Amino acid sequence: MDTSMNISEILTHYAEENSPYNAMAFPIFETSIFYFNSFDDFSKALSSEEDHFLYSRGNNPTVRVVEKKIAALEKTEDARLCSSGMAAISSAILAFLKSGDHVVCVQESYSWTFRMFNEYLKRFGVNATFVSCDADEIINNVRPNTKMIYLESPTTMFFNVLDLRKIATFAKNNGIVTLIDNTWATPIFQNPAEMGIDIILHSASKYFSGHSDVVAGVVAGKKELINHIFNQEILNLGGVIAPFEAWLILRGLRTLEIRLKRHYESALKVCDFLLNHPKIESVNYPMHPKSPQYELAKSQMRGGSGLLSFRLKTKDIEIVRKFTNSLKIFRKAVSWGGYESLVVPCAVTRNCPEENINLIRIHVGLETVKTLIDDLERALRVV
Ligand code: PLP
Repeated sequence: MDTSMNISEILTHYAEENSPYNAMAFPIFETSIFYFNSFDDFSKALSSEEDHFLYSRGNNPTVRVVEKKIAALEKTEDARLCSSGMAAISSAILAFLKSGDHVVCVQESYSWTFRMFNEYLKRFGVNATFVSCDADEIINNVRPNTKMIYLESPTTMFFNVLDLRKIATFAKNNGIVTLIDNTWATPIFQNPAEMGIDIILHSASKYFSGHSDVVAGVVAGKKELINHIFNQEILNLGGVIAPFEAWLILRGLRTLEIRLKRHYESALKVCDFLLNHPKIESVNYPMHPKSPQYELAKSQMRGGSGLLSFRLKTKDIEIVRKFTNSLKIFRKAVSWGGYESLVVPCAVTRNCPEENINLIRIHVGLETVKTLIDDLERALRVV
């Protein structure tokens, strides 16, 4: 890849040079198989599926264009798309572990990732230690059989930030593979590979698609590691993306940079509003200058996305219910990263601890920021 290329060049033209018939919109290759003109060509493709178009459980041209763009954005050698964020996360995790291995994982990781380590992998003799979002805690919990450190930074309920350079340096010196879920920041704002992290994971269902119409995931990293995940897990487990879903992501990527800029600007203004409101106890957004983690966040990220949380000054679930029901623009729904604004009160989630009854997560969408602040103000007025 040409390293002088900027983000918008990657999002527009990169990897699309061979678009058939010079089609401006790269086509959807809705085909399961590819044929060969000779015995030798056929044999070559079967011997290294990662480098050839053979069968769409492996490579597909539409999918490959998107993978190349995302690898370029993440400043990694390669990337693979999967059928969901969890397909990408589980494939990457399984590729590096065997019975008897130990993992150190951040306690605040995405709920299904947590379950993967806490329940699923136990069945196969892999144990995990869950730790708070602190680099020293992570390092201090490493054991002789620790093979993996699993990270999320920032986390997506409390938005804690980890010192990625410190953890990556330690892991490299001890032969431990590092994985990070980079869904929140996206490669527009954070490139963990540049800080020494081995495998970068995304739920592409969020900002990459950006329109709440796709479920997909990504693994990115050095070619050798991505080929290992591809050959060992993705081809075996088969959690691959369909060409049409990849094409929707390609379309979403065109506007990733400008969407993220808008999410960031609006999120900062929403934070200012919330921080100055008498009914708000605290706000969690690491890229706001008033965040206690701002200096560390700024040293690792160039900006922030639209997801943040705050606490209402109450412990009364009735007030939380009234506040949530009074919001008209913020829709009550899971996930995030689309064009629209969303709200998830922690109290609606399974096993919400008593101390988090007043915790509210919002996704600041692409509506005008005045519309969003007016909606929040109106809802705060009635509680
Ligand atoms: N990582 C984070 C931070 C998420 O929020 C999610 C989904 O909400 C995932 C991973 C899983 O992605 P998917 O839902 O695409 O499987």
